[in-house]
Amino acid sequence: MTTVSAGQAPKTTSPAQKALQKLGLARDMDLALHLPLRYEDETRITRLADVHDGQLVQIEARVVRSEVTLGPRRQLKVQVDDGSDRCLLRFLNFYPSHQKTLTEGAMVRVRGEIRGGFLGREMVHPSFKIAGGALPQALTPVYPTVAQLPQAYLRKAVMGGLGRADLSETLPPGAWPRWAGPLWTLRQALEFLHQPSPDVSLAAIEDRSHPAWQRLKAEELLAQQLSQLEARHARDAMRSPVLRSGQGGPQPALRKRLLQALPFELTRAQQRVEAQIGADLMREQPMHRLLQGDVGSGKTVVAALAALRCIEAGWQCALMAPTEILAEQHFRKLVGWLEPLGLQTAWLTGSQKAAERRASLAAIAAGQAALVVGTHAVIEDKVQFKQLALAIIDEQHRFGVAQRLALRGKMSCDEQGRTLEPHLLMMSATPIPRTLAMSYYADLDVSTIDELPPGRSPIVTKVVNQARRDEIVARIGEQVASGRQVYWVCPLIEESEAIDLRNATETHAELMAALPGHTVGLLHSRMPTAEKKTVMAAFAGGQMAVLVSTTVIEVGVDVPNASLMVIEHAERFGLSQLHQLRGRVGRGAAASACVLMYSTGDGPRLGETARARLQAMAQTQDGFEIARRDLEIRGPGEFLGARQSGAPLLRFADLATDGQWLDWARELAPIMRDQHPQLARGHVQRWLGGKSEFVKA
Ligand code: ADP
Ligand code: MG
Repeated sequence: MTTVSAGQAPKTTSPAQKALQKLGLARDMDLALHLPLRYEDETRITRLADVHDGQLVQIEARVVRSEVTLGPRRQLKVQVDDGSDRCLLRFLNFYPSHQKTLTEGAMVRVRGEIRGGFLGREMVHPSFKIAGGALPQALTPVYPTVAQLPQAYLRKAVMGGLGRADLSETLPPGAWPRWAGPLWTLRQALEFLHQPSPDVSLAAIEDRSHPAWQRLKAEELLAQQLSQLEARHARDAMRSPVLRSGQGGPQPALRKRLLQALPFELTRAQQRVEAQIGADLMREQPMHRLLQGDVGSGKTVVAALAALRCIEAGWQCALMAPTEILAEQHFRKLVGWLEPLGLQTAWLTGSQKAAERRASLAAIAAGQAALVVGTHAVIEDKVQFKQLALAIIDEQHRFGVAQRLALRGKMSCDEQGRTLEPHLLMMSATPIPRTLAMSYYADLDVSTIDELPPGRSPIVTKVVNQARRDEIVARIGEQVASGRQVYWVCPLIEESEAIDLRNATETHAELMAALPGHTVGLLHSRMPTAEKKTVMAAFAGGQMAVLVSTTVIEVGVDVPNASLMVIEHAERFGLSQLHQLRGRVGRGAAASACVLMYSTGDGPRLGETARARLQAMAQTQDGFEIARRDLEIRGPGEFLGARQSGAPLLRFADLATDGQWLDWARELAPIMRDQHPQLARGHVQRWLGGKSEFVKA
């Protein structure tokens, strides 16, 4: 027997209701915030004598003739006359109801586009109804919709939602900034945007400068800031191990010993961010910090020092990287640094042999492995830490929210049995532009390494047509003759791995023929892991002069002797991706270059955004500037990869133009939370309802 609990009477859901749900229009407030795409003016009747060709008009006229013609195509032709002139209405698809309404003698109200047809004026498939009834006072909204959801149904639903939604004021008195112009209430703003009066300037609505739009932007950004603030407070209420490293801990001198062993001094920027992380780790609230630094700025050693702080205090650390090659490179580097200190590092990856994996899992569970390095394998359920205190995620933007949460979920307990949350350090070479950092990532602390290690020479970037391929191959010859190494990156055609592969293989053969006496290697994503490793090791060890690869080298690999990178079909890569790739060279003291080779395909010229990307690459090497332009070219949705995380993006505010509102919301949110907690709660509830927070890391 099935029981139906109170308030959940079984309801049949109509296709239109289902479509509403599909649009995410569940609550009254969701409906009220579903704004029109555009408007139609049905407030006026135009005389046929006054209309011109192509005009969208509404007329009122009498049907003088109505007939179905049976020519090559059956159609309904209706002649109407409004006293000033005549017009033909034509319907290629029609129902008996058409004929019934459009019967001779009937007065009808018709809306459509006027065309000067062969036999005089006509409207094809106009909308119509019996004339009479008051004209609407406001413009008619046309909403974004989906199949199965007619405008009329949606309009009624939206008006219903707007009428029922609680739109009481949540802004504290005096909060509206003077520079913003007149204050409109939320109700005024929404009622206006759903049904503007016909005399309004649509330009101000379209460019979102209208006071009604200002109100919505302010509301939305404030909701975002308040929810992030809430997330931050929630995090502060959690407990993490207090990592007293150095003198207080069981292994006081690990960091000092690593610093002494390194062949270089930390840059000032590295020292500063390392100290910031150290301060976080000594707090009992979980760290939630993003370490950003351009490619080659030296994030790995900072991560190693953070790991040592954790180990000095007697806890375990985990480091996760998005690809096996990258994870392996970290592993090797970290083993090289930690083994001399007498520390054990465990390796975890999906492709590992069962016995090796069992040994790793045992060492992790027993706490013998002080550091665990690996791929996604690190967050699998089977992996049990004895006492995990710090989780480090490299190239954080490559991981989804769920994966980051899973790593945070590997919690330990303290002596009193309370659950402890691990500290979280995320690293990224794709800097987050300021406005994004302040909005979507507002609940994150950010440290930036804004200085490259000394002795790096700038990378010269050249944008070159594919037609000059021979010159480039000759240039590679010069580089390898002087003992330098070269990357050749092959195009990315996502639809077809097979074509990628053929292309890479052909280039590989071409370069082998052109460079007798030098080793040219090939690396692509379909190769077995073991083979990939062998190739990578040969290149890293200097036995291989040229490495032809598909984008598997995209992130993180570090071969300081590589001084030239050629990117084939550079026009197919995204800007951040190009920047990451280019960062593989210029890591040593030798002068380095990056050649962006493009092909215009069938067309005479490159597309506009492709050209903008390549130009940006040639003009700047500054990762922040690149990220800013990338945001400009792609928009925040793609930049954030929000679609994969499923969290809502800003719908009304635009970070590129609404920085002033962002600053306002940032200032107001903490004041509001302290002084008007009720209003703050109401505001967030209204905007986010059951949904989770806005996008965050
Ligand atoms: P990324 O920030 O891109 O991850 P890495 O951590 O891979 O950069 O560092 C790039 C290279 O610079 C490595 O070879 C690393 O050993 C070296 N390096 C890091 N810090 C310094 C420093 N302060 N001085 C000189 N070389 C450094
Ligand atoms: Mg790195």
